[in-house]
Amino acid sequence: MKASKKVAMLPGSFDPPTNGHVDIIERSATLYDKLFVVVADNVQKTCLFTALERRDMLRKILKGYDNIEVVIFPGLVAQFAQDHGVGVMIRGVRALVDFGYEFELAMTNKQLNSELEVLFMPTSPKYFMLRSSAIKEMAAYGADISPMVPPLVVKMMGDRITVLA
Ligand code: ADP
Repeated sequence: MKASKKVAMLPGSFDPPTNGHVDIIERSATLYDKLFVVVADNVQKTCLFTALERRDMLRKILKGYDNIEVVIFPGLVAQFAQDHGVGVMIRGVRALVDFGYEFELAMTNKQLNSELEVLFMPTSPKYFMLRSSAIKEMAAYGADISPMVPPLVVKMMGDRITVLA
């Protein structure tokens, strides 16, 4: 499919979705006609939630947005972009440490799909500490994660996580 610069994608694991994710998704959605939020279904990564659960959480959280479509994709994001006419891929960056990895990933994706532009969106200052991995760890030790994730995720985490302390 021909790539359109008006169609963007935001791929990630979203295990679980955080307020930081929701913030860059909402900001990206205002910039493009259509935004695909692509839930990676990566067999090499062990996730707390299945791809279906992560997709359904995001669908519920983002249900007010007509131009956002949340999908699961098991393959390479460059391939998803090619198949769906996506011209822009957005990646959120929190700190300088994110940048090295993201830059290499952008180079790889550009090689796989030369029509795809990769753009980095800096996190909002209030979310720069938010990481899904840290949230899972905090929840496992019984910390209150409600300021960091949408209410639905607080509930899903409570049902899933066994508190260690
Ligand atoms: P993580 O597990 O590190 O939270 P994901 O793969 O789920 O990462 O992230 C999907 C996208 O969201 C990535 O581009 C990532 O950099 C971005 N992201 C994650 N957390 C934040 C945040 N707090 N602020 C901005 N972008 C973020």
